[in-house]
Amino acid sequence: MSKIQMKTPLVEMDGDEMTRVIWQMIKDKLILPYVDLKTEYYDLGLVHRNETNDQVTIDSAEATKKYGVAVKCATITPNAQRMTEYDLKEMWKSPNGTIRAILDGTVFRKPILVKGITPYIPTWTKPITIARHAYGDIYKNTELKAAQGSKAELVITDPDGTETRALIHEFKNSDGIVQGVHNTDKSISSFARACFNYALDAGENLWFAAKDTISKTYDHRFKDIFAEIYENEYKDKFAAKGIEYFYTLIDDVVARVIRSEGGFIWACKNYDGDVMSDMLATAYGSLGLMTSVLVSPDGKYEYEAAHGTVTRHYYNHLKGEKTSTNPIATIFAWSGALRKRGEMDGLPELMHYADALEKASIQTMEDGIMDKNLSAMSTLPDKRVVYTEEFLDEIAKRIVL
Ligand code: NAP
Ligand code: MG
Repeated sequence: MSKIQMKTPLVEMDGDEMTRVIWQMIKDKLILPYVDLKTEYYDLGLVHRNETNDQVTIDSAEATKKYGVAVKCATITPNAQRMTEYDLKEMWKSPNGTIRAILDGTVFRKPILVKGITPYIPTWTKPITIARHAYGDIYKNTELKAAQGSKAELVITDPDGTETRALIHEFKNSDGIVQGVHNTDKSISSFARACFNYALDAGENLWFAAKDTISKTYDHRFKDIFAEIYENEYKDKFAAKGIEYFYTLIDDVVARVIRSEGGFIWACKNYDGDVMSDMLATAYGSLGLMTSVLVSPDGKYEYEAAHGTVTRHYYNHLKGEKTSTNPIATIFAWSGALRKRGEMDGLPELMHYADALEKASIQTMEDGIMDKNLSAMSTLPDKRVVYTEEFLDEIAKRIVL
C-alpha cells in the first residue's frame, strides 16, 4: 500500500510526561503506517524549553503562523515543585499562554461523544463547543481596598490630558473594595472573528451572550462589536451555509443551553468561559474525551487535547508499570490537524484518513475497549480495560481506509 503524501508540513509540538510517551505511540502505530508524515518538529518538552530559554515555544508559534496548522502535545506549566524536579533556570510561562498570545487566538473545546458515556444532561445528544475570550476583564484587573470615608472614581486621561471622571462609590458607612477592569475593541474583534470563522468551518450555529442590560457600556460594547462584524463580514456567508448567529443575555443562554440537544458553538466572555467550560467538561463526562483547538482571527489552527500531561500515570510508567491512559483526545488532535492540513492543501485522501482514524477510535470504545477511568464511567454491558499500548493496537486494527 502506498502512503498518503502531504504537501505542506504540519507544525508538530512535542510535550511532556505520559502524553509525550503516547505521542510517539500514536505516530508509530496509527499515523506512520498510512501517511508519509511531513512535520516541522518543535520539542516543547520542559527540558528543551529550559535549554532554549523558552525560545522553542516562540519559534513553534511563529511556525504555526507560517504554515497555518499545528498539533500540540500537553506540556507542563512549571510551578515551584517543577523548578526543583527539572532544575529550571526560570519558572517558564505556560506554553499555551505564549502561543495563544502570539497567534491572538481563541480556544474552542469540544467533547467527543461515544455510546456508553451519557452526559449528565441526557438530552445533550450532540457536542456543545465552548469558546472562551481569553483576554482582559477580571483576569487583567486592578483592585484596591477602600477605607470608610473614601471616594472611588473612574478616571480616563486622553492623550491631550483631558480627564473624564465618573463616581464609582462614596464609602460613607463602611470600608469596601474597588475593581477596575478593561477590554479592547481589538481583542473583542479578534475573538468575534475567530468565533464566526469557526462556526462557518463547523457548519454550526453560534451563540454569544453578555449582560448588556446591566452593563450598558462595557458588556454592550461586546454585543455591538459582534453585531457589526457579523453584519459587515459574515451575514451572507452564514446564510449561504444555512447557519445562524444569535445573541442573548447570559442568564437566558444558560437556560437555553441546558434545554438544548447540543450541536452549536457557545462563545463566552472570559469569566463566563472559565466557569462554563468546567461545567460543560464535567457534564459531558471525561477529560480524556475533550478536544481543544486554538483558532486565530486570520485562520491559523493549533489542535490539542484539553487534558494535561497525566503526571500520576507517568510516574507509574517510570517505575516500569503499565498504565491505562486514554489516548483519544490526543489522537483527535492529530486527526483534526491532519484533516485541516488536507483541507488547506486540497488533499482529500488525507481528510479521508483523518475521518477513518476517528471512526476507528470511536468504534474501539463502543466495542467496550477502553482505559480504566473511562470504563468506570461507561454504561456498556461488556467492557474490557486495556493498557495504553493495547488501546492503540485495538484502534489500529479498526482503521479502514
Ligand atoms: P491532567 O494531566 O489532565 O490529569 C488530571 C487527572 O485526570 C489525571 O491524574 C487522571 O486521573 C485524569 N486524566 C486526565 N487525562 C487523562 C487521560 N488521557 N487518560 C486517563 N486519565 C486522564 O491534569 P493535572 O494533573 O492538573 O496536570 C498535570 C500537568 O499537566 C501539569 O504539569 C500541568 O501544568 C499540565 N497541563 C497541561 C495542559 C496543556 O498542555 N494543555 C493542560 C492542563 C494541565 P487519575 O490520576 O485519577 O487516573
Ligand atoms: Mg476554569
